[in-house]
Amino acid sequence: MIIAIDGPAAAGKGTLARRLAQTLGLPYLDTGLLYRATAKRVLEAGGDPADAQAAAAAARELTEADTAREDLRDAATSRAASQVASIPAVRAALLAYQRGYGGGRGAVLDGRDIGTVIFPDADVKLFVTASVEARAKRRQAEFTARGERVNLAEVIAEVAARDEADRTRAAAPLIPAEDAILIDTTSLDADQAFSLALELVRRKLGRE
Ligand code: C5P
Repeated sequence: MIIAIDGPAAAGKGTLARRLAQTLGLPYLDTGLLYRATAKRVLEAGGDPADAQAAAAAARELTEADTAREDLRDAATSRAASQVASIPAVRAALLAYQRGYGGGRGAVLDGRDIGTVIFPDADVKLFVTASVEARAKRRQAEFTARGERVNLAEVIAEVAARDEADRTRAAAPLIPAEDAILIDTTSLDADQAFSLALELVRRKLGRE
């Protein structure tokens, strides 16, 4: 069983996907980490994340250790991740790994193009979104919990810029699949979003 969860930055996809995977007994892949880790490799080598050759080489060389790093969520890496993600050769290099991950036992995957490109035949597709203010506040709370102080206006600008880049790129733009179920989490907390998503998944799978 493949469950595809797509949506803009900081919409709560990760929390939701992890909980769904746990409840349904499926492995979970945060595909954003692949792009973040690719970006980190390029940045650390002193390269330019917009350089297609350097970024594609980094994507091809990615290891599990790269994606397990704890320092992939800062603003500079987020921006660079969005840049490398717009390069078709980077997306091509990461495609087989994502398909292979879900191919055997099934999986819950979250990202931007899981329901449109990676698994167009996914059993369930959710598109999780929320207002940019709500998403930025959650992102700010994550930073605060880690002891980092960030300005809300800056987080809103960062999230909005990344959404715009992800939506308008030519390669696998962020767009709901035609058969995706929309979940707006603006006025839902994590528990409410999870309950709703689980109910939608069960209904879709005819397991009520
Ligand atoms: O989900 P996360 O915010 O960690 O993703 C970081 C960046 O990676 C996104 O802004 C997007 O540009 C890219 N991404 C993507 N396709 C995915 C997952 C992430 O293009 N499936």
